[in-house]
Amino acid sequence: MTSGTGIFFDGNSSARQDVTVELQATTLVVRSREGEQLAQWPYGELDQAESPDQILRLSRRGSLARLEIRDHAFATAIDEMALTIDHTGTVQNRLRTKVAVLLVVAVASIGAMALFALPALATRLTPLMPFAIERKLGQAVDAQLRNSLRSRAANTPLECGEAENAKAGRAALSLLIGRLEAAASLPVPLRAGVLRRAEANAIALPGGQIYVFEGLIAKAETPDELAGVIAHEIGHVARRDGVKSVLETAGLSFLFGMVFGDFVGGGAIVVAAKTVLQSSYSRDAETASDAYGVALMNMIGGNAEALGALLARIDDLHGKGASLLRDHPETATRVVAIRSLAKPGSGRPLLDSAQWTALKNICVEH
Ligand SMILES: [Zn+2]
Repeated sequence: MTSGTGIFFDGNSSARQDVTVELQATTLVVRSREGEQLAQWPYGELDQAESPDQILRLSRRGSLARLEIRDHAFATAIDEMALTIDHTGTVQNRLRTKVAVLLVVAVASIGAMALFALPALATRLTPLMPFAIERKLGQAVDAQLRNSLRSRAANTPLECGEAENAKAGRAALSLLIGRLEAAASLPVPLRAGVLRRAEANAIALPGGQIYVFEGLIAKAETPDELAGVIAHEIGHVARRDGVKSVLETAGLSFLFGMVFGDFVGGGAIVVAAKTVLQSSYSRDAETASDAYGVALMNMIGGNAEALGALLARIDDLHGKGASLLRDHPETATRVVAIRSLAKPGSGRPLLDSAQWTALKNICVEH
């Protein structure tokens, strides 16, 4: 069971109470710090108002009591819980209403602009997109992606790490991701996996799913090199580049799809999956993610220059056209920029040699 903290107003007095909030199967339970139950609200009866200050304000329909959640990750967990449990469609409708508002803003913005400047529009709309919608979009893109990617051999699963002997490799990957995620303080929880694909590539989906390809792990010579690429991908998650690119490429049809029906399987998703897979974000987005990744590596005492070393090696091996580098700024320019931002690390690799070996072998099946 997930729990978190919040501030509770009982609706009778103006007193504010620090409370613990438990996400049970069908209800949200509010308890005082002493454990006394103050409220029990079914997910289907929740009313929420998201404010510009990013605080989630919840109430139960018809009640004056109010609950404030400041932890964004926990707010997202509540959103997801409400979406899964809600059979009445109330939450779904509320999200739809939010997107309808986005759509009105979008259409009004287009009207206001003499030119149909979709990139500028996407930049303005992305921060308004509810995280629960971004998660749903990510799941749809994930399904599309898995459909379009074929594992090398037909009888091996696309995702590495499921075999019993890959346990240690999985643990090493979680350790690495965990250290980066703790430093990143993202509004959505990260999920990471390894795909059995030969390209030296890594991708970030809307909603916090990151995939590292087997080919990239093969090219990485140190755990810090791999961590550097993952930190770069976390940059795309933090900046919400995935959802932004969907708005850029499929903008209005995506928003209309969200309001009037199910966008799963729609044209917007096919476009989104392609954009993510080709890592074809704008140069500005790539430069910003490099800077983010370096800052993250600096924070955890890793070797922040290692990302540059790996990029240069892939560039040397493949020349132009390697997926990770396609449409990315000139590798040499990136490496120089990465070096200029990198601080000296602790000198200790982010994984010990046994952990690194296990991770290198995560796709080996016995
Ligand atoms: Zn990138």
